[in-house]
Amino acid sequence: SHPMLDYQKDSIRSKNFMEAANAVMPGGVTANIKYFDPHPLAMKEARGSKVIDMDDREYIDYVMGYGALVTGHGDERVKKAMTEYIENHGTWLFGTPHALEIEMGKRIQTHFPSMELLRYTNSGTEATLLALRMAAAYTGKHKVAKFEGHYHGGYDQMLVSVSPSMKEAGEEREPNSLPESKGIHPSHLRNTVVLPFNDLKACERILTEHRDEIGAVMIEPIQSGFIPPDLSFMKGLRQITKELNMVLIFDEVKTGYRTCLGGVQSIYGVTPDLTALGKAVGGGFPFGVVGGKRDILMQSAPSHGSDVFDASQSKNKTAQDVLFHSGTYNGHPMILAAGMAVLDILEKEMDVLLQRTNQLKQGIQEIFDRYQVNGKVIGMGSIFSVVLSPKGKIRNYRDLQKSDLATRKEIDFALLKRGIYLKPLNRYSVSTAHTEEDIRTTLTAYEEAIKEVYG
Ligand code: PLP
Repeated sequence: SHPMLDYQKDSIRSKNFMEAANAVMPGGVTANIKYFDPHPLAMKEARGSKVIDMDDREYIDYVMGYGALVTGHGDERVKKAMTEYIENHGTWLFGTPHALEIEMGKRIQTHFPSMELLRYTNSGTEATLLALRMAAAYTGKHKVAKFEGHYHGGYDQMLVSVSPSMKEAGEEREPNSLPESKGIHPSHLRNTVVLPFNDLKACERILTEHRDEIGAVMIEPIQSGFIPPDLSFMKGLRQITKELNMVLIFDEVKTGYRTCLGGVQSIYGVTPDLTALGKAVGGGFPFGVVGGKRDILMQSAPSHGSDVFDASQSKNKTAQDVLFHSGTYNGHPMILAAGMAVLDILEKEMDVLLQRTNQLKQGIQEIFDRYQVNGKVIGMGSIFSVVLSPKGKIRNYRDLQKSDLATRKEIDFALLKRGIYLKPLNRYSVSTAHTEEDIRTTLTAYEEAIKEVYG
């Protein structure tokens, strides 16, 4: 079994690295999510399902680039697709239309038939931002609604819902709009309305109250990638948003190509007006997709479907008539080549990936049950999390906050010591590179960790 890591002693190079990094970047990190106390582990190498840190410790990785690496680290097939692209085409960027834009789009449409048309972006953040602009333009209504605790990217409009303390969060059925960061313009607290997840009646009341102002309702159809909604909630939300002329946006950045090939929308049989994708579909590179109803997407066509392809030459069109969407790297050939390779792999290996994840989930649940721990493994597809709570079902962000996060963190560190890498308190992302042996090793470590924490 894995030699035990003494976190303080055996991660000394990571610790020193973080001290040096502090002199270059605030807090030593360039994305806040990378930080955790007492200091994060800095990595130097990764292959398949494994990462190796600066102290030469090997871990089975369940962060997987926060879910982006659905085929694991350094997949040879993805690498080959990218190098072959450069060899065959001579470049890695055209800045013009090119063949892979159509090929990739058609492939995504086979999995997500709701995407009658689509556009590419450079991140999940950009995808949800674009979806919001499209919705506002389409409905003429500029307020947006989101759900408490849902993440759609790090920008002002959507960094509104919960404060860490929950003190000012308001009634569960009517959450307050709170800034999640310093520097958020106060106007966003008025223009972003917060809804309670999985509470249809409350949503109906709040949305109806703001029916003339809210143009978009954005949701992580599985909250944080692991809290599934009731089917009746999803169907009801679809119905209400339709009746109130609001664009329903599924943010499937986490769940797309992870729950199954067609995302949460295919599992629930609920069709959103717009969908945002990111993470897995980009093979670990910066990428996003916005797709959905033809009428909504067509707003960004320079010609609006006329035979004039240059907006500046169109007689009856000005720039203001077109929904602006652009970007130097949109539809980047290298990333589309990588993404196509990932979709090829997933079409063949998704079933095995889901089976393997289930094996891990069931194994962990079985350990909880055997040691009479109030732990629940929840999630769908290749992402899940572990929640310690005596309460029955975890239904929303507040249930999660009320769960035993301190013990969960202890388990996560007990796992780190045994060579299982997960950012403390984060969710698990499994990849096609994880083997049966990885799952067995993880479960052995899990049992030892539970014995250490509860023993
Ligand atoms: N939406 C969801 C549901 C996400 O999980 C994330 C990323 O964590 C984003 C949007 C933002 O994506 P990105 O980090 O690629 O900008």
